[in-house]
Amino acid sequence: MRSYDFHDFSRAGLRFGRWAAWLRIGLAACVLPMALGSAPATAVETGPQMSLSSVETETGGTLLVKIDCRRMPASGRMPNVSFGDQEVYLFPHPGQTKRVYAGLVGIPLSARPGPAALTVAWGDSAQRRSESVAFVIKPGTYGEETLKVDPRHVRPSSKDLERIRREQEELKQIYASGSRSRLWQGEFQIPVPGEMNGPFGTRRLFNNELQSHHTGMDFRAQTGDPVHAAGAGVVRLTKDLFYSGNAVVIDHGAGVFTSYSHLSRIDVKVGQRIEKGRTVGLAGATGRATGPHLHWGVKVNSVNVNPLTFIRVIERLSGD
Ligand SMILES: [Zn+2]
Repeated sequence: MRSYDFHDFSRAGLRFGRWAAWLRIGLAACVLPMALGSAPATAVETGPQMSLSSVETETGGTLLVKIDCRRMPASGRMPNVSFGDQEVYLFPHPGQTKRVYAGLVGIPLSARPGPAALTVAWGDSAQRRSESVAFVIKPGTYGEETLKVDPRHVRPSSKDLERIRREQEELKQIYASGSRSRLWQGEFQIPVPGEMNGPFGTRRLFNNELQSHHTGMDFRAQTGDPVHAAGAGVVRLTKDLFYSGNAVVIDHGAGVFTSYSHLSRIDVKVGQRIEKGRTVGLAGATGRATGPHLHWGVKVNSVNVNPLTFIRVIERLSGD
């Protein structure tokens, strides 16, 4: 198994310049006078001021967007922010005054490296305006590894395939129906004290035949070690899943979910509101696992993102 060095990640990870690197758009999007030659326009529609935490990010990264609506008419609707078909949930920016919002964008591992853009739209149906905010997606530098697991988890039976399909559908529904409001406060924490021994994004070859990407991050843990919630939220799933084994999924709101897999025991219930640090269960080796460990996953708007860069982005929210 690859050894891991935090330094590698900070080098390859998002190079967050200071907020000085912000892109600013729509500062004063002026509506042209209806008839040229008329008196200077007094009807000036002011758009939101929008900034990104970084002008470049890598596949599997998380981007933080700040939307300042203070110059917009107070009666206007909230702007819409999207990245392709990904809708970004805006929430009041915790470090800013009223009418300044933040939102998170998940960059899929499968995203094509190169120029990319967010779209921000505002105004009512009579006068809808939009702008693009450009950034660059860099290819993530993720390794490869080969793993040996129970053949059942590489060549599932037709009955298992049916179960996998049902479970994937259930998870998809959960990730698509999270709380729009932010349910966490402050920073996120890594759920176990053990060393990280399975990086995010690694291309994996199971039993020399099945290829996949590592969608979360593995941490050293013994069977029975407590696993803690990374942030406050609501438990949305507690279930024995075919691949993940005993799993817990927490909705943190604003498009953010975390999951905890291969547990030997689950200690929370669906619908339960939990605080950061609450024990959600005990580590184990259930499901497709080579031995006891914790697989920790983070999703932003249904996109699997690198948990460590996600944690750093959230730190910026409270530190700004
Ligand atoms: Zn894993």
